[in-house]
Amino acid sequence: MFDVQEIRSQFSILNETVNGKPLVYLDNAATSQKPNSVLEIWKKYYQEINANVHRGIHTLSQLATEEMELSRRKIQKFINAKHDFEVIFTRGTTEGINLIAYILTAKLKKDDEIIISYLEHHSNIVPWQMLCERTGAKLRVIPMDENGVLQLDFLDQFLSEKTKVVSVNQVSNALGVVNPIEEIISKTRAQSDAYIVIDGAQSVPHFTVDVQKMDCDFFVFSGHKMYAPMGTGILYGKQEILEALPPFHGGGEMIAVCSFEKTTYAGLPFKYEAGTPNVGGNIALGAATDFILNIGQQNIQNHENALLEYAQRKLLELDGLKVYAEKAHRTGVVSFNLEGVGISSDVGMILDKMGVAVRTGHHCTQPIMEFFNIAGTVRASFAVYNTFEEIDLLVEGVKKAQRMLA
Ligand SMILES: *Cc1c(COP(=O)(O)O)cnc(C)c1O
Repeated sequence: MFDVQEIRSQFSILNETVNGKPLVYLDNAATSQKPNSVLEIWKKYYQEINANVHRGIHTLSQLATEEMELSRRKIQKFINAKHDFEVIFTRGTTEGINLIAYILTAKLKKDDEIIISYLEHHSNIVPWQMLCERTGAKLRVIPMDENGVLQLDFLDQFLSEKTKVVSVNQVSNALGVVNPIEEIISKTRAQSDAYIVIDGAQSVPHFTVDVQKMDCDFFVFSGHKMYAPMGTGILYGKQEILEALPPFHGGGEMIAVCSFEKTTYAGLPFKYEAGTPNVGGNIALGAATDFILNIGQQNIQNHENALLEYAQRKLLELDGLKVYAEKAHRTGVVSFNLEGVGISSDVGMILDKMGVAVRTGHHCTQPIMEFFNIAGTVRASFAVYNTFEEIDLLVEGVKKAQRMLA
């Protein structure tokens, strides 16, 4: 039985008030709140077993190592990776994509091509532009239509033996559009031997991901958008690909033998985990997968889809309100503007006075804003603990903004 009140009781922060009003937290695409189970595991790590991992033979060091490796296996299961050593701990999606772009440097030469899409977050644009600067490769961008749907006939046109990387997100953070990843991957495989990178920052919080079935080469996501602490994230890469590529950061933990004449590197996953990791955070990320799986990913998806549908229907009843990508297949996000009335941040400020937290502005996706010829949108984004009553409060706030800004 799905019981949203029981789930809410696991999040202390949801009892807070903001500007004298109960908090209505609808900024989950920026970061989710953390359940007590995740926070307790994190705290317990520091209170009871804090020690550095993979080095010490003393008891606490071994316990910390065991807990972190157990968490790695939980995450392996969560995304259905074939091996636990294909799961690399990072600081988040941004670091994961930069890592991939860096280790692929020697694989690209002048006039090779990297394909991304119009719907990408800046962190799936800029690292590839930097790779182009290093190598002379060129960036090609799959366009989208007025509904925020990618136009895949352009992908067919772009793909060639020059294509070395295809990197797209599974779900857009600005609009919530769910991209046709299966089709993108099968087209890419059929027409090139490019590396396929999937940005899963907005998909893993909302539905089941199976990296083997998907058959991507790399998959990256952040912990903090899926109920885990900030500063945690995962890079998944296929064994044979990660083994063949060079390391990223050099330092402790990532060596087999280090001497001034020659250093050899450790095997996976340690080759890509130089330095002291975020042990407590990484353990808490495993606990966040437990939290999600205990509720059930299908239950989460059903609830969030119902919230999205309800929010969209209620918002569209208002005059002059435009929902972006209204007709596209979406999850977790409704992005909108009051046409001719103020700017998105004005609406956001009025909502904040009522305790309603939403994101306004460009959402780290300036090309999308340019496409629609706007400076930003108001974005309400949902998590498993949100309720229909909260959406009523959002809609009330938007009505008030409409009156105040008219
Ligand atoms: C949030 C987000 C990122 C960046 O994640 P960080 O946690 O800030 O590193 C990248 N892509 C998408 C789709 C996102 O939503």
